[in-house]
Amino acid sequence: MKLVVRVKLLPTPVQAAALEATLHACNQAATWAAGVAFEENARRPLELRKHTYAEIRERWRLGAQAAQHAIKKTCDAYTTLKANLRNGRYGRPGSRRHARASDKPVVFRPEAAQPYDDRMLSWQHQARTVSIWSTAGRLKNVAFTGQAEQLEVLAAHRRGESDLVCQGGKWFLIATCDIDEATANTHPVGFVGVDLGIVNIAVTSDGARHCGRRVRRKREQDRDLRSKLQKKQTKSAKRRAKRYAGREARRNKDINHKISKRIVAEAERTGRGIALETLTGIRERVRLRKPQRTTLHSWPFAQLGSFIVYKAKRAGVPVVHVNPAYTSQECSQCHHIERGNRPAQAVFSCRVCGFVEHADHNASHNIRQRGWMVWVCGAQSTAPELTLIA
Ligand SMILES: [Zn+2]
Repeated sequence: MKLVVRVKLLPTPVQAAALEATLHACNQAATWAAGVAFEENARRPLELRKHTYAEIRERWRLGAQAAQHAIKKTCDAYTTLKANLRNGRYGRPGSRRHARASDKPVVFRPEAAQPYDDRMLSWQHQARTVSIWSTAGRLKNVAFTGQAEQLEVLAAHRRGESDLVCQGGKWFLIATCDIDEATANTHPVGFVGVDLGIVNIAVTSDGARHCGRRVRRKREQDRDLRSKLQKKQTKSAKRRAKRYAGREARRNKDINHKISKRIVAEAERTGRGIALETLTGIRERVRLRKPQRTTLHSWPFAQLGSFIVYKAKRAGVPVVHVNPAYTSQECSQCHHIERGNRPAQAVFSCRVCGFVEHADHNASHNIRQRGWMVWVCGAQSTAPELTLIA
């Protein structure tokens, strides 16, 4: 399984200046090469190299590897563009958008990502530094930092190229890791149903409720702060709003990592799979009072879902996605579906059999049962795959 890990570089001012000059040089060279590729109709690496390699090395002082990567990056950009044109992402042939995209050479932003291979970049995981090629020579002992879990994955599984990128004045390396998947559990004894919600971020059919009051209050505070800052139109208010947004995103990500880790560990320990709702349409499905609406839109459900899927894959835990229709209105005991089964946000009370349960728990049981049905049906017709979409 391929995975990308992003680490933040902590260059000294001198190192940062060298990285900036390097990235600009690589992208200028690539933009120039893209022009040549367009004029000469040379969009394959071997051909384009003939036309551009010597000049790139001389004019922009790129090393042999960097020059090769700049050329390859240009060819990849044309391949992507061609695929997008074919798939209709720029409208029909002959339309103005289509023409705008296809009638001129590709241009790279000065800060666009540049690939680095092992000859241009080496990692010292213990010291948390990298040694990285630049147009001003090799930069040694450039410090980096990241989340503990990600750094572990990086040290053990990094393979192949990494991308150097600059985002908002900060420097990052995006490294590809290749992780062995655990042998998949092809005979789960059951499923853990996970209901993703607003009041509780995740509730499992085992009764575990993730995200208590504390996280919710913090999110509400963030929201208040954001709207206050948005009302002020000053530059510094905008800057602060941006900084807070970044902080909130990091905290959300951290919470999602923790929740997904616990859910997957529990499923693995008990030999079960995990059942999730397909997330498309979660926003349309849920009708909420106004203050909750912003909370919903600010919570990265998709991220939590994808974290669960990838951690499960690593652990060999099968994941199935189930149809989310009526999971909150269906009685998990007698399967009677009625809107009136849910008299309040948190309460489920079946109008036929009288079953009463916390609404999110009831939903998670429905998801668990549907997950099992999906698994059994899928397993009967085909060999069970790791991820089944129902
Ligand atoms: Zn019932």
